[in-house]
Amino acid sequence: MGEFELIDRFFKRQATPAPAGQAQAAADSMVLGIGDDCALLQPAPGMQLAVSTDMLVEGRHFLPDVDPAALGHKALAVNLSDLAAMGAEPLGCTLALALPPERAQDDAWLAALAAGLFALADEHRCPLVGGDTTAGPLNLCLTVFGQLPAGQALRRDGARVGDELWVSGTLGDARLTLAALRGELRLPPAALAAARQRLERPTPRLALGQALRGIAHSAIDVSDGLAGDLGHILHASRVGAAIESDKALNLMATHGHEAGTESRWDVPTLLSFVLHGGDDYELAFTAPPTARAAVQAAAAQTATRVTRIGRIEAEPGLRLIDAAGHASPLAARGFDHFA
Ligand code: ADP
Ligand code: MG
Repeated sequence: MGEFELIDRFFKRQATPAPAGQAQAAADSMVLGIGDDCALLQPAPGMQLAVSTDMLVEGRHFLPDVDPAALGHKALAVNLSDLAAMGAEPLGCTLALALPPERAQDDAWLAALAAGLFALADEHRCPLVGGDTTAGPLNLCLTVFGQLPAGQALRRDGARVGDELWVSGTLGDARLTLAALRGELRLPPAALAAARQRLERPTPRLALGQALRGIAHSAIDVSDGLAGDLGHILHASRVGAAIESDKALNLMATHGHEAGTESRWDVPTLLSFVLHGGDDYELAFTAPPTARAAVQAAAAQTATRVTRIGRIEAEPGLRLIDAAGHASPLAARGFDHFA
C-alpha cells in the first residue's frame, strides 16, 4: 500500500455526518477537504479563527503497544481541549502522521487509529480536512481550527483579584493510573478501569468552554498538572491564588474508593496527583463571585461537573490552604519536557 492509497483508505471520507438532531453548521465551514494542496475553511462572519497544534510522540506520550483507537481519540482530544480552553467551536483539523513501514502495512492498526479519531471528530463536528503522511518513527501531530466571536476568547491573561477559581470534571486519575500500572499502589479492578479511561480517552470540555464565554475572566486546560497550568494564568494575569486542599482532594474521582493500607496510598500522594498529575484535560477557569450562578448554569446546561476550589489574590504565587486555614506555599510548576 502506497502513501496515497493509505490516505484514501483510512483518512479520506465522503463527508463528516452531523450527529442526530444537530444542524450541519460547523461541517458547512469546510469548503474543500482532503485532496488538494490546501483545505478551504470558511469561518462564519464576525468570527475569529482559533488555531492550535499538539504532537504525540511514541515513547514520550504513549507506549508502542498502545491501543490504536485510544491513540486516535487522544491525539484529537488533547487538541480539542485547547479549543475548549479558549471557548472556541471546532471547524476542522489536520493530521501529520509519521509511520514506521510495518505500521503502514498494518490495516487493522490503521483502521482502529482512524476509527478512534473519527468517532471523536464526529461527536464534535470537527472534520479531518488534510494532513501529511510520511515514513518515520511513530508520531501524530494534529492541528485544530476553531472559531469564536471576535474578542470573546477565554484567555490566560484575564484573571482578576477576587475571582473564584473553578475546575471542571475530575483531576488526578490519569496520574493515579500510571501509579497503579507501575505497581506503586493497588486499585480495585473497577476503579482502575475507570481511572484508565481518563488517561486513555480524555474528554475535551468544548461545550463548557463555549458556555463560559462572557462569564469566565480566564481559562486554561489542565494538561501538565493543575499547579503548573494555573501558574500560567497567574503569570499572564500578574496575580496569585490560594487553593483549598480539601476541595482539591475532592476533585479526585477515585478518591475514597478503597483507602487501604498500601504504602503510598495516602492523602498527600493523592493530593499531589490532583495538583501535579497532568494528562487530565479539564478546564481551570476564574470568574467573579457575582458570576457564581452563571457558572453553575453553564455547567448544568452542558452537563459538566464544576467545582470551586479557591480564589485569585493580589499576593503573587500559589498557596495551599489546609482545613485549619493554614497556608503553605505551592510551587506553580508543571511537567516540562526539558526541565
Ligand atoms: P502535498 O504534496 O500538496 O503536501 P500530499 O501529497 O502530502 O499533498 O497529500 C495529498 C492530500 O492528502 C492533501 O490534501 C493532504 O492534505 C491530504 N493528507 C495527507 N496525509 C493525510 C493524513 N494523514 N490525513 C488526512 N489527510 C491527509
Ligand atoms: Mg505532502
